Amino acid sequence: MNAAASRALSTFPTGDAMTTPTASSDLSVAFQLALQRELHVGGEAASPQALLRAAAHACRELLAQRWADTQAEDARRGLKASVRRVHYLSMEFLMGRALGNALAALGLEETVRAAFTAEGHTLPDVLEREPDAALGNGGLGRLAACFLDSFAELGLPSFGYGLRYQYGMFAQGIQNGRQVEAPDDWMAQGNPWEVMRPELRYLVGFGGHVEVDAGGARRWVPADHLVAQAYDFIVPAHHTQRVSTLRQWHAQAEAPIDFAAFCRGDHQAAAAHRVAADAINWVLYPDDSTDAGRQLRLKQEAFLVSASLQDLIARHLQEFGTLEQLGRANAIHLNDTHPALAPAELMRLLLDEHGMAWDQAWSITRQAVSYTNHTLMPEALETWPVRLFEALLPRHLEIIYEINHRFLEQVKQQYPGDGELVRRVSLIDEGGHQGNWGGERRVRMASLAIVASHRVNGVAALHSDLMVKTIFADYARLFPERFHNVTNGVTPRRWLQQANPGLSALLDRNIGIGWRQRLDEMGRLTPLAADPALGQALMAVKRENKQRLADRIRRDLGVTVAVDSLFDVQIKRIHEYKRQLLNVLHVIARYQAIIANPTADWVPRTVVISGKAASAYVMAKSIIQLAHDVGRVINSDPRVGDRLKLVFLPNYGVSLAELIIPAADLSEQISTAGTEASGTGNMKFALNGALTIGTWDGANIEMAESFGEEHMFTFGLRTEAVEALKAVGYEPRHYVEQNAQLRAVIDAISRGDFSQGDSGRYRALVDKLLNQDIYLLMADFADYVKAQERVDDLFRDPVAWARCVLLNMAGMGLFSSDRTIEEYVDRVWSAKSLG
Ligand SMILES: *Cc1c(COP(=O)(O)O)cnc(C)c1O
Repeated sequence: MNAAASRALSTFPTGDAMTTPTASSDLSVAFQLALQRELHVGGEAASPQALLRAAAHACRELLAQRWADTQAEDARRGLKASVRRVHYLSMEFLMGRALGNALAALGLEETVRAAFTAEGHTLPDVLEREPDAALGNGGLGRLAACFLDSFAELGLPSFGYGLRYQYGMFAQGIQNGRQVEAPDDWMAQGNPWEVMRPELRYLVGFGGHVEVDAGGARRWVPADHLVAQAYDFIVPAHHTQRVSTLRQWHAQAEAPIDFAAFCRGDHQAAAAHRVAADAINWVLYPDDSTDAGRQLRLKQEAFLVSASLQDLIARHLQEFGTLEQLGRANAIHLNDTHPALAPAELMRLLLDEHGMAWDQAWSITRQAVSYTNHTLMPEALETWPVRLFEALLPRHLEIIYEINHRFLEQVKQQYPGDGELVRRVSLIDEGGHQGNWGGERRVRMASLAIVASHRVNGVAALHSDLMVKTIFADYARLFPERFHNVTNGVTPRRWLQQANPGLSALLDRNIGIGWRQRLDEMGRLTPLAADPALGQALMAVKRENKQRLADRIRRDLGVTVAVDSLFDVQIKRIHEYKRQLLNVLHVIARYQAIIANPTADWVPRTVVISGKAASAYVMAKSIIQLAHDVGRVINSDPRVGDRLKLVFLPNYGVSLAELIIPAADLSEQISTAGTEASGTGNMKFALNGALTIGTWDGANIEMAESFGEEHMFTFGLRTEAVEALKAVGYEPRHYVEQNAQLRAVIDAISRGDFSQGDSGRYRALVDKLLNQDIYLLMADFADYVKAQERVDDLFRDPVAWARCVLLNMAGMGLFSSDRTIEEYVDRVWSAKSLG
């Protein structure tokens, strides 16, 4: 921790004042009561589901007490506190399962294990029954979930704000090698964790028009209102009594039944409001959503923002009486641009509902708001048609126009005569140029977020650097002091302690137990890395984890894999820039080499791929199908045997990641340099004792710098080389013509070797590779294959491999989300950051 952050944190409540330790007898009583409620009658055998609910209810009671204590403590802080209360707005929270984490945090694993055993069930068997709370697409949502854990652990006064989606990320099934999507009805059996807050309800308006009164004051008269009802999910700290809160909003109709219509017998009309409200709660948008149905997404964003800010203002008024100090006492953080309506809504509330003047409201807004960017791809930057705003959020549009007007006046003063600059930085894309399909005017949400924030950050050093050099170069010139980097991290509690109990116990014995709270204690492994006995113990733990995964692969896929083979793993969203296809091309090359030379000294490999493709992303789905086709051929070829297997585990999510990552020997982090903002999967793997084969991209770079580049298998063109190659005119065919191995791989796919002779199946995929290949797979292939050979060489020497793994783990101290949050506090959320 740096000195500034530790100073800021020293003023946090620590929870030490709350001394009530959790008595396991409290829980036993709560659990027995909850179980009786679950079973209705005594004496009946408890099902695992009933045990799960009973344990969850019992934990929830204890957490609710901690929640009340935490809130009381935070409310006493007042303005002297150097850390503002943080309001983390995110459309996604990819939480996964809760019970295992709650039991670990409350120190109640053994109590509950005994209680379950007494009912005839094992703890792991019951934990497995809990559905994942999968209210996120991938990395961005999982980051938000890790942050909630660190908020609690660090005692940061905070609220996470999100939506209570009925259906989370779709469940992925595989039929004939193709992805099929099914709804994820995660609350079908209820949600025993959530606490409804009947007293916390706010009205959120939509549509309508703006009225001007005699004094010239403007006021929005919405056509409709929805009620936002709060549900809290409580996240415990592991080393104090503090908790953090995820407050999720549920939309309800203001008047659920149109009674007149009901009496007329028109039941459809009678329920219309209810149906409209349900649509908000309905489904988490997968990241592929096309224009159809997008209006609903904007409504979801507006609903999240308005309810959260009304809640913040109500709390602030209760604590302070007036709004003057709102920006000094509160931080409002935007996790990407999805909640970027927040500054417009805060301005509206301050101006229209609380009668504040523009300059004061703007100054408060700028103090409060900060924004994290998650992607450099210009096509991924969120914009909304002005016409949609006019229909749905007319007053917000007025306010955005006014913000824009004042901002552009400033720009014109600073850079007189530079009309191009003004056009580029405007919050409104005036349309009619390339890259704006409809040619219609659109609101640029990232621009709004930047102009209204006092801090903007990227999520890894390279990403933050490219951000100010590329997509936000103009803004960085206008506001150089605003842009910062805060490299991502992951929580060691979930991703090491809970996911990998064997490795955790080994660490405890060798470096003590402190790493759970201060991950930099992993550094104590450095002097032990050359100890062969420790290396052996490490590999024994790894083998147990691999056995567990091998059992799962056999159970789910019917494929037997060799537990002593090298487990080579790539699990993440399926995306062209993440280059799962490059991985599959290498597998094919290896397959061909094995067939050509079966007696060579092959290092046996099991390649594991998992990940969901957005439902409208044709190329990503084709890659999934190819992985299945290739796996089917290789896994059933008797000439190959244990030397090579390729398996695809369906329905990737947090709990599957917790099973797979501890079993990995090799972590595939092979995105085209300059495309992966940070990655957090890379961190989870290294923490769990996998070595990384990776490009010079995202946080891979900082990891390599931390434990030594010679301890990572790096390969491929770096960002500048990628740019240079594109600048001179990249010709993928050239690489295929020059490389017989690559040619043979492409030919085999084209011929239909893996698609039962169907040479058409992958024509589009191959055409794209040969003619465009915008992610430079062809250019990086040869170097990737060489890096894979270096992997084999090291794996042949188990002592050297184990030493390298230990050195990787030793260097992972930086990549705890606790460190990330300390940096946010220091650079973004402290009162000090306001200058
Ligand atoms: C960590 C994590 C991610 C992010 O993985 P990347 O490899 O960084 O893209 C996505 N989904 C889940 C379920 C995760 O746990």
